[in-house]
Amino acid sequence: MAKRRKKSKAKGVAAAVVVLIAVIAGLFFGKDAIFGGITDNPSAPVSGGEVQFHFIDVGQGDAALIRTEKGDILIDAGTNSSEDQLKAYLDKLGVTELEYAIFTHPHEDHIGGADMILNTYTVKRVILPDKEHDSKTFERMMDAIEAEKCEVIMATPDKTFKVGELNCTILAPISTSYTELNNYSVVIRADYGETSVLFTGDAETHSEEEMLERYRFKGTLDCDILKAGHHGSDTSSSQAFLDAVTPVHAVISVGEGNTYDHPKQEILARYEAMKLEIHRTDKEGSIVFTTTGGEPTKK
Ligand SMILES: [Zn+2]
Repeated sequence: MAKRRKKSKAKGVAAAVVVLIAVIAGLFFGKDAIFGGITDNPSAPVSGGEVQFHFIDVGQGDAALIRTEKGDILIDAGTNSSEDQLKAYLDKLGVTELEYAIFTHPHEDHIGGADMILNTYTVKRVILPDKEHDSKTFERMMDAIEAEKCEVIMATPDKTFKVGELNCTILAPISTSYTELNNYSVVIRADYGETSVLFTGDAETHSEEEMLERYRFKGTLDCDILKAGHHGSDTSSSQAFLDAVTPVHAVISVGEGNTYDHPKQEILARYEAMKLEIHRTDKEGSIVFTTTGGEPTKK
């Protein structure tokens, strides 16, 4: 019995040594070295109560990703020609599933990659403005939505949704009919702790005025990070709107040397006069902010 006990004790010591070696190996090579590259949940977005806001470089277009511990939200999908770039970015992060995909309005520089998104990833819900558009890109998106069989939510102002502790509110479109397609843009406010981010799509001054009228006195527009409306065009970012939003950061999603001359000098001057920190995807590539509930910091 004593011998057996001794033997099992030796076994115990051997097991302890194996564990110790594994731990040391882990310190040097990371846990992939021990477990053969298998991670618990490769699509686990973020941990430690962190939320990330990615403004993804898709050239002259928009695409943003919000990552929370409980899932991801995509806002716009860039152009047809930036599909591969967007897919590579999402794949590198390990995205496999989207809680929400929001396609702000039917212009190609926002929904160009929508069919790729729906055909590649599991999309649980799509948020759209109630506006159809006569284009092949729009048709492809609608076909892909139908094939995905996901829930389709029409954007209406004041509608809220949550992913984990991240609260989102749809602020616009407020009217049901506009002459300019850009004004159908779904505008989303995302709040996490003290951090708030305003995603404006290509909403122009008409939509900005409606938002001012509806929300100004509620303080709803006050945010830390503003995704500059319409790629920094002078159709958007009216002084009155900026005065209500009072952002610290303005992120301009724009392509280098674009034919629209975005962002407009006048708008940059307006941001500079307000001492906003200006971040541009044409100069910096993709831009990421993180927060654990306090002030957002740029990665
Ligand atoms: Zn656009």
